[in-house]
Amino acid sequence: MSRTGTSVVVVGGGVTGLSTAWWLARSGVDVTVVEKGIVGFEASGRNGGGATHYQSPLFHEEQRLWPQMDELLGYPTEYQRERIIFQVDPRKEKFHEGLSLRLPAGYDWEVLDPKQVRELVPLAGDNVVSGVHFHFGGHANPQRTAQAYAWAAQDLGATILQHTAVTGIAMAGGRVTGVETAKGTIGCDALVIAAGPQTGKLAAMIGVGLPMAAARAEMIVTEPLAMMPITGVDGNGLYGRQTLRGNLAYGGGPHEWQDDVVLDAAPPKPSGSVTRNLAKRVAELLPKAAHARVIRSWAGVIENTPDGRPVIERLSDPGNVVVATMSSVGFGLSPASGHAIRDLVIDGTCSFADLSKLSLKRFAGIRDDWRAHLKWLPPQAAEVRVGPGGQAAR
Ligand SMILES: Cc1cc2nc3c(=O)[nH]c(=O)nc-3n(C[C@H](O)[C@H](O)[C@H](O)COP(=O)(O)OP(=O)(O)OC[C@H]3O[C@@H](n4cnc5c(N)ncnc54)[C@H](O)[C@@H]3O)c2cc1C
Repeated sequence: MSRTGTSVVVVGGGVTGLSTAWWLARSGVDVTVVEKGIVGFEASGRNGGGATHYQSPLFHEEQRLWPQMDELLGYPTEYQRERIIFQVDPRKEKFHEGLSLRLPAGYDWEVLDPKQVRELVPLAGDNVVSGVHFHFGGHANPQRTAQAYAWAAQDLGATILQHTAVTGIAMAGGRVTGVETAKGTIGCDALVIAAGPQTGKLAAMIGVGLPMAAARAEMIVTEPLAMMPITGVDGNGLYGRQTLRGNLAYGGGPHEWQDDVVLDAAPPKPSGSVTRNLAKRVAELLPKAAHARVIRSWAGVIENTPDGRPVIERLSDPGNVVVATMSSVGFGLSPASGHAIRDLVIDGTCSFADLSKLSLKRFAGIRDDWRAHLKWLPPQAAEVRVGPGGQAAR
């Protein structure tokens, strides 16, 4: 494939930036990923691995690509198809009502009774009230997937600079001309900002407002258990998967809102109370796994926009910049988001989906106190309420 001569810098070596680099390199573009730490070390390597985002405009492409990703990348992602969601709270017996209206046509699924759930999820117990079986969607291993994108992009000539934080953005003549790092300025013809929770801060450097709030979330992993017929199982407020080795890897709320994530912050640590709460809810969902020991836990930072949907947009000013932040659904959508961003960089428009719902324009005029309005405040700030007289009251 011939080189286009275009040089693109992608800020961020998470799955969004790495998939973008891979897609660009596949098109013969000279691309450099600039990552402040190591690839996949933030949310991209710490998530639940779920890939079933039927509410996204990128859903069809997500579903088309995942079954092919191991072959396309040439490295394993551990993708497993299908998903079961079931509930154990009798008040949620009819949780699937209206689902047929929300699911796009052409994807098979069915309602399961408790016995059918237990056949497909042998670790479930007598407390199952109802479930659904998606014959689409699925999950993959986040760490292996991030690494697979990185290796595959490098195989096609992409450069990945780790331990290189972008601290500024150089502009001339109304266009971005490079990114500033401690090692010097890296010139570029086009820039992709895919820096997870930091995307808003980097966008602000070029005068673009992108409202974002970061939240800490946790995951736990149990010792290995006998493999279940279906390994992507959600419910009881949890998302999770059984790894190829048999471990249960589960996450779910509550998410702890953070004030700010400074550039050189170490990733957050799990807190004992959230970890215990997750383990309790996994035992409720899967009582036959209640004896399993939790062998690992970790925390990660989720990037959130005010409406919970990603932003993927090629800016009009400066016109050679694409901004992409995925608002908590970025792992599963990564094969498709990289494709979309590749299209925006090279062609200016996405070839396979209408991205208008992901445009930044929807936040124009957003109220200044949107975080307080949504009650998305860090615990210490949420405790401080300002009374009518302006005094803080606890
Ligand atoms: C516990 C948890 C569970 C989740 N579960 C799921 C799930 O099941 N399914 C799903 O689809 N999504 C899930 N998510 C969300 C998903 O992980 C993210 O949406 C996705 O990883 C975002 O990828 P990203 O590449 O856009 O951002 P990140 O993974 O945050 O990567 C951004 C990268 O940019 C780098 N960076 C930031 N600033 C700079 C700078 N100035 N210079 C250089 N580099 C910089 C960072 O170091 C980082 O590596 C979950 C997230 C968490 C934390």
